[in-house]
Amino acid sequence: MIYNVLSIYFFVMVMIEIYLAAYIRSQNGAAYTRNLVFLGFAVCFYMFGYSMELNSTTKNQIMFWNGVEYMGIPFVSALWFSIGLMYTGYYYPIKKRLLATIYLISLVSFILRLTNEYHHLYFAAVSFISESGRLFMEKQPGPWMYVQLIHSMSMILITLGLFIYDFMKSRKKGTETGKISLMIAASFFAVAGLVFLLAKPFGLYLDYMVLCLPLTCILVNLAILRYDFLETKTLARNKVFEASSDAILLINHQNKVIDYNKSAKSLFEQINLHISEGYITTLFKSHPQLLAGLCTTEVAMVRLKMDREERFCEIYTRGIGNNNEAPQGWIKSIRDVTETHKLNESLKRQAMVDELSGLINRRAFMQFGQELVKESETAGKTMHLLMMDLDHFKNVNDQYGHQAGDNVIHNFGKALKDNFEEGTLIARLGGEEFAVLLSGLSDLEIEQKADQLLITVALFEHNYQSKKFHVTVSIGVAKKGKPRQTLDNLVQQADKALYKSKSRGRNCVTVWN
Ligand code: GH3
Ligand code: MG
Ligand code: MG
Repeated sequence: MIYNVLSIYFFVMVMIEIYLAAYIRSQNGAAYTRNLVFLGFAVCFYMFGYSMELNSTTKNQIMFWNGVEYMGIPFVSALWFSIGLMYTGYYYPIKKRLLATIYLISLVSFILRLTNEYHHLYFAAVSFISESGRLFMEKQPGPWMYVQLIHSMSMILITLGLFIYDFMKSRKKGTETGKISLMIAASFFAVAGLVFLLAKPFGLYLDYMVLCLPLTCILVNLAILRYDFLETKTLARNKVFEASSDAILLINHQNKVIDYNKSAKSLFEQINLHISEGYITTLFKSHPQLLAGLCTTEVAMVRLKMDREERFCEIYTRGIGNNNEAPQGWIKSIRDVTETHKLNESLKRQAMVDELSGLINRRAFMQFGQELVKESETAGKTMHLLMMDLDHFKNVNDQYGHQAGDNVIHNFGKALKDNFEEGTLIARLGGEEFAVLLSGLSDLEIEQKADQLLITVALFEHNYQSKKFHVTVSIGVAKKGKPRQTLDNLVQQADKALYKSKSRGRNCVTVWN
């Protein structure tokens, strides 16, 4: 009778377990839900095999179904342990190699049980007992069965310890403990199974472990359903993470990528970088600029070369956890700001450059000029300022039209660029007034350059709609003398010299002294 009830119990549990694990897995992407599905399957193999073993009538059948059980048994505790690690957040600090060893022991147990008849390392001997009309298997443990037993026991006890430790921590911090309490209850069932397995109470030939494990699994699933990932809030948050057009990376305190969204995957694919979980120094080794941007907590701007295009990305950092001083990790969002960046650059250019002459405007001239003045002062270089004003320009407009005047301004801008070396600051200050700021030349060189410009300008034949004419320019020169003389002061002096040139009859150079 009791065995029939047990069969029904196992059957129902297998169904519930598979359904819950698959449902939770389909609803969220948390790494440990995958392990939960594996645990569900391991327990199901165990339960199903055991249930079939109970109903077997021959020794061969019993041996076969016992083999099926072992497709689950060795893996249960290892999976349970890794779920515990992931659930409490200790998974990442644990070395991968250690976890691999834990699973390796499970794998060896599985193989040794499968091949037991050749070496008897798992079961030293197997005998059969007939009890109330049923056939039961009695196993004499072989050496590896002890290894497996110790392995299972320690995994289950350590996991219980982990949950209890986490519970104490949560209580101390005053955070939710309902979830972790359920995990502890789940863990207790596993421990109870273990205790019963060893103590064999009630004189029944029963595997108490397999009786208790489904309860463990179901409690975990309930804990998740009740408290964790199926909350609408959490689901919504997951969705936002995945659907964000920003590339998002989660990095732990060891600078290891622990999660990333779809946008991150596709962004990095475009720069031929395969993102995975791992240390950022290794993952981004081939992209030092990106790595530097990811390592700083300030907002960083990085250029990424994609296919043929250059993209600009901003990286923002937010700490994870309550402690701002020592966060548990960081959220890095990488935003493609190429369009905004280009627009900004173009606006900046528009704000600084005069379209007609192709020269910088007064605002930019004063800004860059001040920097140049400071630079040449610290470098101990000479500095000269040339102020220029086209002569009788109103007449040009009056005689040949405003368009012709524009043409002259355009040509003059070009002439200035041709006449001075690169790095010279040349600006259209407004109307038909221009300025040139030079450093490192002697007074004589400056005068020669100014005279040369006068000649070039005067000789240049403007040709507008087949009307030919010449324009001249007046120049005022000021030399930076006393230390800390400002650019404004220099402009005033050059302006006065220019005024002098005008009063001297135009088309000439006057040096301020
Ligand atoms: P002066 O030799 O004393 O400098 O005589 P001027 O005629 O050049 O001086 P004034 O300052 O009286 O006139 C400057 C003229 O330049 C007035 C204005 O119509 C013209 N002007 C200013 N900006 C532009 C421009 O962008 N395009 C054109 N075509 N003309 C301009
Ligand atoms: Mg003028
Ligand atoms: Mg003028």
